[in-house]
Amino acid sequence: MEGTGAPTADPQFDVQFDATPNNLEPFWMPFTWNREYKKRPKVIVSAEGMNYTANDGRTILDGTAGLWCANAGHARKPIVEAVQQQVAKLDYAPTFQLGHPLAFQLASRLIGMAPGEEEFDHAFFANSGSEAVDSALKIALAYHRARGEGQRTRLIGRERGYHGVGFGGISVGGIVNNRRKFGQLLAGVDHLPHTHLPEQNAFARGQPEHGAHLADELERICALHGPETIAAVIVEPVAGSTGVLVPPKGYLQRLREICDKHGILLIFDEVITGFGRLGSSFAAEHFGVMPDLITLAKGITNGTVPMGAVLARKGIYDAFIEEADAVGGTIELFHGYTYSAHPLACAAGLATLELYKQDGLFEHAAALAPQWEEAVHALKGVKNVVDLRNIGLVAGIELAPREGAPGQRGYEVFTRAWDKGLLTRVTGDILALSPPLIAEPRHIDQMFQLLKESIEEVD
Ligand code: PLP
Repeated sequence: MEGTGAPTADPQFDVQFDATPNNLEPFWMPFTWNREYKKRPKVIVSAEGMNYTANDGRTILDGTAGLWCANAGHARKPIVEAVQQQVAKLDYAPTFQLGHPLAFQLASRLIGMAPGEEEFDHAFFANSGSEAVDSALKIALAYHRARGEGQRTRLIGRERGYHGVGFGGISVGGIVNNRRKFGQLLAGVDHLPHTHLPEQNAFARGQPEHGAHLADELERICALHGPETIAAVIVEPVAGSTGVLVPPKGYLQRLREICDKHGILLIFDEVITGFGRLGSSFAAEHFGVMPDLITLAKGITNGTVPMGAVLARKGIYDAFIEEADAVGGTIELFHGYTYSAHPLACAAGLATLELYKQDGLFEHAAALAPQWEEAVHALKGVKNVVDLRNIGLVAGIELAPREGAPGQRGYEVFTRAWDKGLLTRVTGDILALSPPLIAEPRHIDQMFQLLKESIEEVD
């Protein structure tokens, strides 16, 4: 299609667009090397089950569940129909001082599947992972203030953490390119060190042995600032976007202990790890560590309609209620979005959660995980592969960077895989795989075969 100027027809949707570089120009693509993309565009026109279809008609095996979100596979009928029916019945309703049934139903459903025995009792809705993170950070700050501990204003993130792109998220996040051009960010933020220890943990299967002590850095940060000034610590239980960093054994437990000791809230950003990615509903359950707030997005609606959420552990919501009651009653939390609990997102969410349950997808993911692990580690010895990491149905495949051109090799492998019919995710020289949880053993074989060939064919 490149440079032909010929309109590209999509028979399914009867859409035509001119795919010459100039006409691809107006879309300023997010997190994309626009110049390169527009010279060699990769265009997806439809999806079903485990596959995408490209505009040249090729089938692309989805190795990444879109962007870690289509956990039940694409275009699943119950979700499609739920959204279709909902848009015809109630297209939009505000949730400021009003409500609609599906919002309450979805909140109940999420609370019902949250980790622990009735540990979590409220769900706040946003429209993305970034908004969920910013909401959770604001809830943490306001919670302490409601309890008379308004001096707790510091937020602690972690190096290499990705918490979306809002100012809150990039402030606690630890990815330099997402931070360096955007000014001073939030004040009063500090960072734990990341947990990537390749010298000791390279090629670890599942949770690495070394690194629990890195959680003790939180004690150092507490000693530096005064623990009574810290509101919350936020981490991804498994760091996804930065290249699949699996927490060392004991690390998350240690973080929890230190937070408890100092009255600090622990936030798990489960935007990726939520909804079966590790073979359990949530990473909190998988690792047996209970956070105070959980941020969610992506798999909550199977990626069909944007939605994010924050789950709050017992006592957090109550603190807001008590504070408001003390002044005779008022809005408890001055925060929310026009599209919080959008009816289409709620319909998609309810249908998605039902599908996960009916199809036993989390159990299916858990059952596939051993085969997945074998397939990942079979790449050991393939040229340029310097580390392999896995947990649940996630894998990080780290390549040696090319001398003087970090990221180039990773990008070329990503492109080669696309040409061969496999969608991967690339961050620098790290390839990530996180397929829909409906994957069958043959998909795993195919995925790793295509990836292996792609790595081998790139210098
Ligand atoms: N938090 C984590 C852990 C994520 O992986 C992401 C996105 O990948 C986000 C937050 C941001 O989500 P969104 O892109 O929906 O804003």
